[in-house]
Amino acid sequence: MVTRLYSHPIFLEHLTPIGHPERPDRLRAIERVLDDEIYSPLDRIVAPFGDEATILYAHPERFAEKIRKAIPDDGIVTIDGDTSVSPKSWDATLTAIGAANAAVDDVFAGVADNVFVASRPPGHHAEKETAMGFCLFNHAAIAARHAQNRHGAEKVAIVDWDVHHGNGTQDIFYEDPSVLYCSTHQMPLFPGTGAKHETGVGNIINAPLTAGTGSDIFREAFLSRILPALDNFRPDLIIISAGFDAHHRDPLAEINLTEEDFDWATGKLMDRAERFSSNRLVSLLEGGYDLQGLSFSVGAHVKRLMKG
Ligand code: ZN
Repeated sequence: MVTRLYSHPIFLEHLTPIGHPERPDRLRAIERVLDDEIYSPLDRIVAPFGDEATILYAHPERFAEKIRKAIPDDGIVTIDGDTSVSPKSWDATLTAIGAANAAVDDVFAGVADNVFVASRPPGHHAEKETAMGFCLFNHAAIAARHAQNRHGAEKVAIVDWDVHHGNGTQDIFYEDPSVLYCSTHQMPLFPGTGAKHETGVGNIINAPLTAGTGSDIFREAFLSRILPALDNFRPDLIIISAGFDAHHRDPLAEINLTEEDFDWATGKLMDRAERFSSNRLVSLLEGGYDLQGLSFSVGAHVKRLMKG
């Protein structure tokens, strides 16, 4: 497998208030783990700045302008109780979009089998017209549309194993049968959406998990709900909204996964990518707030991506 890794120093410059869990140290911890010799075969690329026009794949222009105008010259400005912007936030989120779209270009060009994007801020809570849950724009949704608009992908699957429901991605594709959105998440928990009965036009598969559950229930949700939906859908591309806050050490939730669970789930999705999409798989970092839980889980995830 040729596995690419996109990163960029600008991702450290999106600043959040002191004590905020979504902080630059998350990426520093990931970098330290991926510095290990076993990751030396990774094809490491500096993320390109995104094409602003691609924001409009998932968000209306007035919303994009609202975010641009919210960026301060100095200090930190809050958008809601959880979400804020600092002077470099526009460049960071646009570079996250650039990396996600470039990753899609790479797997369709065949220069990489799969790609991991280590970026921040995350994106899956960003709805069409609402920035929330630490997210400004929805990078996964934009990348899915980019695959359709630029590469002729007919069907794109987004699998979201972040412990929070990706309300933004669900919102953007709720009436779009060309995109399958599958999510495991703790419920009840922020943002409150993600019930089983939220099914869109049959393209939304929500697998809510009860607080205190762990590996067995998570794997069962994958085996009984998410993998059958993928088998039925036969995607041309799989995008993972890869949050690692369902790890047992994470302070924001109560699901007890380990690194082995992320390794296992990665393997299952690679198996589907091999079967349906010529291995094309793009993984985008979302949440994960315990530095050890996050970095070790990313390590297991990327190691599996490299191995096949
Ligand atoms: Zn999360």
